[in-house]
Amino acid sequence: MQSTLARPPRALRYVLVGLLASLVTAGATIADAGPAPVGKTKAGSIEAATPDHLRYEVALRSDADGSHWKGRERVSFRNATGRPLREVYVRLWGNGDDKCGTPGKPSPIKASRVRGGTPGRLAVNCSALRVTLPKPLARGRRAAVSFDVSIAVPKRNDRFGREGAFRFLGNALPVLAVHDAKGWHLDPYVNLGESFYALASDFRVRLDHPTSLKVPATGRTWTRPGMAGRTVTQSVAHRVRDFAWSAGPFRTATDTSPGGVRVKSYWAPNTPAVGVRLNRKLGVAAIDRFGKEFGRYPYGEIDLVMTPEFGGNGMEYPGLVLLATTEEESAIVHEVAHQWWYGIVGNDEYSSPWLDEGFTQYAMYRFNGDERRGCWSDVNWPDARTALTNSMAYWSNHRDEFMFILYDAGSCALADLERTLGPDAMTKLLKRYAHDHWYGISTTADFKKAAQSMTDKDLTSFWKKHRIR
Ligand SMILES: [Zn+2]
Repeated sequence: MQSTLARPPRALRYVLVGLLASLVTAGATIADAGPAPVGKTKAGSIEAATPDHLRYEVALRSDADGSHWKGRERVSFRNATGRPLREVYVRLWGNGDDKCGTPGKPSPIKASRVRGGTPGRLAVNCSALRVTLPKPLARGRRAAVSFDVSIAVPKRNDRFGREGAFRFLGNALPVLAVHDAKGWHLDPYVNLGESFYALASDFRVRLDHPTSLKVPATGRTWTRPGMAGRTVTQSVAHRVRDFAWSAGPFRTATDTSPGGVRVKSYWAPNTPAVGVRLNRKLGVAAIDRFGKEFGRYPYGEIDLVMTPEFGGNGMEYPGLVLLATTEEESAIVHEVAHQWWYGIVGNDEYSSPWLDEGFTQYAMYRFNGDERRGCWSDVNWPDARTALTNSMAYWSNHRDEFMFILYDAGSCALADLERTLGPDAMTKLLKRYAHDHWYGISTTADFKKAAQSMTDKDLTSFWKKHRIR
């Protein structure tokens, strides 16, 4: 995500929501405490991240303007651990802001008519549904759960929200939570940055909507005629961590990068044309440039969704980015870099957000040729407890520090690591590191080990200086 502090109404909203969030986050997580060697585990070990090898099959039908979607979702999965899997948790992240709703205003996401297990009560502010499996699932065995899904797009301009006639369905589709050595990851939703942690999954999604709406979506998409006046947008995505879409009377254009990636642009007609042109150009350049730096973009297609006022400023999903687009700027390079840092190379975005935001911001500065000299000094740390590697539990209570530590200190630390290792070693490190965690999960410990392997210098004092703990 790239939120901006230059938009006062949004910033004010964050402050207000922050106060509320700080009241409810404590105690909301059910994840166990303790170290998490998740990056070093193998399928079949007790600590392996599970359920894995996820396959989602989804069919949804929208109303006239894309505000409501209803249908069925099925997800099959494997137990990767040596321990029997007794339940799974479905995350309803779309309920994050509205929580359990109010009598007159129910929460926007509903999962009902569950098959393949017994649903429990909604937990974590109605963002998690436990489904107990009929019998414990042994190591290596597969099972599936399915349920009806109902999605009502909230009336707010946000990643799950709307702007004018345009609907943004980020984090609207329920996805399964991860269990690893820390236990179940049932962290609370934070509307500042991301709480999300998911394993690479396959999706087949069928979206039935009025022909007047264009529907950009994660994955490779194609359309075919539906019933009278309707179109079916079909999407297939392999090894992605989430599935997002958007709907509205978009204008569209498709560019193909020299590296062979289809960059499909969708914009609201009131988006400044010069901003759209700039995004199309930067989108093509960034997808190829990062492909060379970190490994070829594997999904073949990326959708750029542009409106003038998108409330999140910029938001990343696999193969789809949402961009507030003015005449001068958008967060496009940052959001394209997220395709690798969070998307292809996964991380637990709740416990280690610097691994996606810091790396992404550093990638953007590399793209811009900005060396970030002198961008950080020890006096910039606001507090003894502030560390680059703090979790969203910390940042959600220190919202004023979030942007300038995670984004600025994070990118500064990596620019400084580049000066410490030398530019060639840094380039090699990033490529090798991305390769070693391709479609997997990375941790701070993994990164420190990989960086240390590139040099004879002891990096202990480097990590200490940059508060990478
Ligand atoms: Zn970001």
